[in-house]
Amino acid sequence: MVKTGISLDSVKNNNKSQILKILQKNGAMSRKDIANQIGLTPAAVTMLCNDMMEAHMILEKGEMKEQKRAGRKKVLVDINYDFKYIVSVNIEAVDTSITVTNIRGNVLVETKVHTRTDIEPQLFLEELAKEIKLQLWEKELKLSDILGIGICVPGIVDRNNGISIHAYGIWNNQVKIREILEKQIQCPVILENNVKAFAEAEMLYGVGKYGNNIVFIKWGPGVGSAIVVDNKLYEGNQHNAAEIGHYIIEPDGLKCRCGRQGCLETRVSMFALCDRIKEIYSKENTPVLYEETAGDKNLITRELLTSWVENEGNGYITRMDKTISEILVGAIERMARVAVNVLTILAPDCTIVFGSMFENTSIYKLFIQYCTKYDENYTDKLISRSHLSDKMAYIGGTALIASTYFFESKNL
Ligand SMILES: [Zn+2]
Repeated sequence: MVKTGISLDSVKNNNKSQILKILQKNGAMSRKDIANQIGLTPAAVTMLCNDMMEAHMILEKGEMKEQKRAGRKKVLVDINYDFKYIVSVNIEAVDTSITVTNIRGNVLVETKVHTRTDIEPQLFLEELAKEIKLQLWEKELKLSDILGIGICVPGIVDRNNGISIHAYGIWNNQVKIREILEKQIQCPVILENNVKAFAEAEMLYGVGKYGNNIVFIKWGPGVGSAIVVDNKLYEGNQHNAAEIGHYIIEPDGLKCRCGRQGCLETRVSMFALCDRIKEIYSKENTPVLYEETAGDKNLITRELLTSWVENEGNGYITRMDKTISEILVGAIERMARVAVNVLTILAPDCTIVFGSMFENTSIYKLFIQYCTKYDENYTDKLISRSHLSDKMAYIGGTALIASTYFFESKNL
C-alpha cells in the first residue's frame, strides 16, 4: 500500500474549512447548495455539517422556500459566530485598545489602556494581561470561551516567533510579546504588524474578495502598507516588505524613527504634519489658526488636524490659513506620488487605503486627483477606501485569530 501522508482526518478538516469559508463569504446556505459549490456529494456535506453542528460551530437557520418548486423547503445552515470569542489587542504609540469580539467581529467589550513606555515592556505586557483577564471576568467569560488573542503592533514583526522586532515609536528593542503573554494567559497568541493584520481582515471580512493581488496603504499617525500576492501576505526578507513609510523622498532629510533620514513618514505622518504646523505657527503666519487656538500651540493635535480639512472651494483644503493648506496639500501630493510609484511596480488588482487621513473625504478625493493626474488609470475605482475603517481598532486582531483558529483546517 502506498503511504500518502494525507490522513483521512486532514481531508475531512480541509472539507470542513471549505464549508466554513463558503458560508463566511455567502452567508446562510442550504447543504445542497454548499455541496454544489464545493463539489462534494450532499451526503458528505450533511455528514460534515452534523459534525460541526455537534461542535456548535455551525447552526441551522430557519427555512427558505425554493423558488422553482413552491412548497418544498430547504433548511439553511450558517456559521455560529458566537461559537467562541476573540481578544483583539492593538498596541499603538499612545494607547492600547483591548476589544473582545465574536468571530464576525461584533464587539462585546471595548476598553483602552495607556501604552506605558516608561516601564520595561515585560511589565507593561503583564499589566495588559491583568486588564484582559479583568475584562473577561467582568463579562463572565472563561478562557475556554476564548479562541485566542490577536495582537497588532506597528513596525517590523516576526509573526512565526511572536516577536516585535522594532515597534517604531514604542520600543527600540525586540520584545517577545507572545512568550510573555502566553505565560500570563493560557490561550493562543498571534502577533502581527497592524497593517498586515488589517489586510488579513480585509481578505476575510471585506473587499479583499475582489482580487488576488492587493496593495494596502495606511495613512494615519504613521504610514504603512501591506502587499497581498495570490491571496497571501508578502513578507519579504526579514519581514521587511512594504514599509512605504520609510521610502526615502529627500536626501539628507529629517531623521526618521527607523534610524534613516528623509523617509516619507518624516514629511507626511500626522505627527510630522503637526510638527511642521507648530514650526510656522504665529500671529502673522497662521492668523486664523492662531485665533482659533487662542495662541496655544499645544492645541495643534493630530486628532484635530483632519477636523480642519474640508473642501473650501477656494483652492484651499482647510478652513485654516493658506500656509497650512500648502503644507497639507504638499503632503497629499507626496503621498500620492509614492503610492503611484508603488502601484507602477506592483500593478495590483486593487488598492485599499485606510487610516484617519484617508477617512477624511476631502483628503481622499484630492489624493485620488493627484494619482489620476500622474496616471489616468489610477482612479477611485482602482484605489478605494476600506469599509472596515470604523473597526480599525480591533478587526485586524480578530481576523488573525479567526482565520487561523476557526477557518483554517489544521486547527479544526
Ligand atoms: Zn524611516
